[in-house]
Amino acid sequence: MYRTNTCGELNESNIGQKVILAGWIQTIRDKGFLTWIDLRDRYGITQLVFDEQRTDKNLIDKAKKLGREFVIQASGTVIERSSKNPNLPTGAIEILVEELSILNPSLVPPFTIEDETDGGEELRMKYRYLDIRRNPVKEKLIFRSKVAQLVRNYLSQEGFIEVETPVLIKSTPEGARDFVVPSRMNPGQFYALPQSPQTFKQLLMVGGLDKYFQLVKCFRDEDLRADRQPEFTQIDCEMSFVEQEDILRTFEGLTKHLLKELKNLSFDKFPRMTYAEAMKKYGNDKPDIRFGMEFIEFNEELQNSGFKVFDDAELVVGINVEKCAVYTRKQLDELTDWVKRPQIGASGLVYIRYNEDGSIKSSVDKFYSEEKLKVVIQKANAQPGDLILILSGQAHKVRPQLSALRMELAERLGLRDPEVYAPLWIVDFPLLEWDEEENRYVAMHHPFTSPKPEDISLLDTHPGEVRANAYDLVLNGNEIGGGSVRIYNKELQGKMLSLLGFSQEEAEAQFGFLMNAFKFGAPPHGGIAFGFDRFVAILGGQEVIRDYIAFPKNNSGRDVMIDAPSYIHEQQLEELNLKITKE
Ligand code: ASP
Repeated sequence: MYRTNTCGELNESNIGQKVILAGWIQTIRDKGFLTWIDLRDRYGITQLVFDEQRTDKNLIDKAKKLGREFVIQASGTVIERSSKNPNLPTGAIEILVEELSILNPSLVPPFTIEDETDGGEELRMKYRYLDIRRNPVKEKLIFRSKVAQLVRNYLSQEGFIEVETPVLIKSTPEGARDFVVPSRMNPGQFYALPQSPQTFKQLLMVGGLDKYFQLVKCFRDEDLRADRQPEFTQIDCEMSFVEQEDILRTFEGLTKHLLKELKNLSFDKFPRMTYAEAMKKYGNDKPDIRFGMEFIEFNEELQNSGFKVFDDAELVVGINVEKCAVYTRKQLDELTDWVKRPQIGASGLVYIRYNEDGSIKSSVDKFYSEEKLKVVIQKANAQPGDLILILSGQAHKVRPQLSALRMELAERLGLRDPEVYAPLWIVDFPLLEWDEEENRYVAMHHPFTSPKPEDISLLDTHPGEVRANAYDLVLNGNEIGGGSVRIYNKELQGKMLSLLGFSQEEAEAQFGFLMNAFKFGAPPHGGIAFGFDRFVAILGGQEVIRDYIAFPKNNSGRDVMIDAPSYIHEQQLEELNLKITKE
């Protein structure tokens, strides 16, 4: 037997017992006549003691030669500590060691295996297996496992069946870029790794499985801006004979269950907002509603007063930043520079300070009388001490710019409290969006999303105005899930593909299998997928998904531990009928 107990479980009730422990050496403290070792395993830390008066001399010598991260097995007796550590569950006892074996020595680790480590990100990623020994990383992985289990249990209880779908599938032109895998047995041909199991889960509905789910790896070869991973996990789900309402109810139920079990938080019905409303109020389809600062449009109040910037703008829109009239000129200049950075792209920032004493100071005093500014202040419902910030320009550009400013200010003002959870559904997404580069419509969600029945007549005349039965679940400014009611009729699916620019032949070649299946009695169906990594991170009170993935990739999509991607042998290339032309 390697061990009778773990390093996290012994306490005063075990005093006098003979035990065997195994684990890694966290620290050794050699005080001459006494030597202590902190022994660590997944479950905790237990102190071992070697005492000149009570321990065999050879054993003490052996202990003094041990090093950090050696793997050892120690047997001895549980004794009461003379100076207890109340912060440690095992802090009242220690093990007076009687036997010791070194199971494996260790090199000195390249960074300290402590909660606060001296290792930088790159180094910790290279030695991720050492990083995982640290509590903050280990606990996140345990937390992830717990969330996965809750999800599996909940959905299983609701009658969902877990089905695995293939990983080697077919490349499709819609959506993000595919990762592809050459086929040795079919020279010149490639599989693609799934961006999601979308068509397969729909086929499972045609297959009559009724309720499907899977915790599934998905792959998207995108540029890895801000905390994205090329391979990530989804909670992927599909249901038959349902309307949008049934799907929202089911997955609101799942989300509430997780928030209750993990955070002990209870929620009434989640609020809902249409896409149009979210864009108008927050300039964003995943608004963080933990704080206000809703957009206020000032076209009526501020145009036609001779300030050309506003007069020429399609939209003049602002936010009221509470209690920030005290911002100095320097702070306001800095904010102006912030919105003018190329990433945000605003041309300028107008402010109206509504000072505590009731006076008003604005960067556009020249163009507006005090009365006019008062009207603006009233519309914004600003109180003395508040600051109104205004942007202007083309609506589709200004909204995201002001949204970015709103989020930045919330961050600076500490309004994004990770312990506050504010879920909401965004519904009624547009079916299509115009792609300026490709000069055609693309699906806003994906090509299998059903238009709202009442909007179908607009498909021919005003496709841009057609709304979809598509929805996102948003939590604290993050889209954590999204899905739709699907098209299940061959003709409508064909029409949708033709709107997206597919010729009949292309549609047949790419999605013939699905449209064919629709000829054999497809049930009405719909579903959703949650981004599991992000969901777990947010439930864990953080937003960095990398921390919740055992072996994540870096920003260039590399796994620095195994050093992938990598070159392959000439022979492998030959077998695959591939030639590298550029390195
Ligand atoms: N497959 C979709 C996605 O990955 C989700 C869904 O429509 O169920 O975004």
